[in-house]
Amino acid sequence: MKILVINSGSSSIKYQCFDMATPTVLATGLVERIGEPAGRLIHRPAGGPAVQRDGVIPTHRDGLAQVVELLLDGNHGVIESPDEITAVGHRVVHGGERFSAPTVIDDDVRQTIRDLSPLAPLHNPPNLVGIEVATELFPDAVQVAVFDTAFHQTMPPEAYRYAIPTALYDEHKIRAYGFHGTSHQYVSDVAARHLGKPATDTNLITIHLGNGCSITAVRGGQSVDTSMGFSPLPGLIMGTRSGDIDPAVVFFLSEQLGMSVSQIDRVLNKQSGLLGLAGANDLRDIQRRHEEGDEAATLALTMYTYRIKKYIGAYFAALGRVDALVFTAGVGQNSALVRQMACDGLEALGVRLDDAKNAAAAGDISEIQAVDSPVCVLVIATNEELEIARQTVSVIRS
Ligand code: ADP
Repeated sequence: MKILVINSGSSSIKYQCFDMATPTVLATGLVERIGEPAGRLIHRPAGGPAVQRDGVIPTHRDGLAQVVELLLDGNHGVIESPDEITAVGHRVVHGGERFSAPTVIDDDVRQTIRDLSPLAPLHNPPNLVGIEVATELFPDAVQVAVFDTAFHQTMPPEAYRYAIPTALYDEHKIRAYGFHGTSHQYVSDVAARHLGKPATDTNLITIHLGNGCSITAVRGGQSVDTSMGFSPLPGLIMGTRSGDIDPAVVFFLSEQLGMSVSQIDRVLNKQSGLLGLAGANDLRDIQRRHEEGDEAATLALTMYTYRIKKYIGAYFAALGRVDALVFTAGVGQNSALVRQMACDGLEALGVRLDDAKNAAAAGDISEIQAVDSPVCVLVIATNEELEIARQTVSVIRS
């Protein structure tokens, strides 16, 4: 069975085509800068050279039509006809309270994703465009939505409600939803299998550190708390997002500094985090400068890892028993220093790292705890596209 996974953003489309029998990646690719003067498409068929096309790509439809052309191409293609694609799995950012599982897309589902757009104005509309275009170009395929929020729908009210007037929840659904669910779910499943325990009996703290960062408490395979909330802004310090901040700062920026709502939004989402603290959002730059003695970089790194540690402590309290910490995504998989700083001082909770194993972590999964550490510490390569493909298969089979 062949599955195409699509992540349609405001000006880009990422895709991966899988043969789920093994499963194997047949091709991956990226259409960038849609609607801008210098568009680009990069198509990477497995085992063959990458194909790059530069030029204006006016709309998502044009971009995806070119992708279909390349998927069918005599030299660079991986399928012979669009009807070989059994299903298209779409990453959809916000499923609100309605979607707690992958869902076959029909008119009603499409309308609900549209209705949820006020909760994710930058994401759900381009996700919908991807769905519309894929439905047109793969008319025989089942279209499936896999929601970033779905995994966290198991959170109990004490974790997802905010202590604000109840009417704001009842009437406007203002609550924590959490994001990165597909990644937290994927690494949770891999971790449980690695530990040789049923997921239903495994408690984990999963730590996704990419450009966006979030941490999730997983009890018995289900998310019971997570650091992102109503939006992806709160929680951990990120590349350009502030993470947790006193909401009164927003009043001050507005009333005392005269900033508009959109300026404040920009400051907290795009100019804060590591970028705001040290002028660079790439953790590699921060780490290099820290090693060279740059004080701003050291402060940024110390704050970044201290915030992770605080959440690890909080989620130990929420879970009671923790079988493993799991580090994943760009920073989580690659920065031994971040892992070491985040776990430093957690010995009383049963977390002790082995420095050599931590430094050597690589590949799909590594154990980096010391032999006498009661809690396992894992580094797991996340694979959101494969998880979307698997969930797509599971929903069409059921
Ligand atoms: P996204 O959230 O966009 O999917 P990724 O999961 O790819 O992002 O993570 C991107 C982050 O990973 C970047 O900030 C980058 O600094 C960090 N990163 C990638 N490789 C390394 C490395 N070798 N050491 C430290 N950080 C790294």
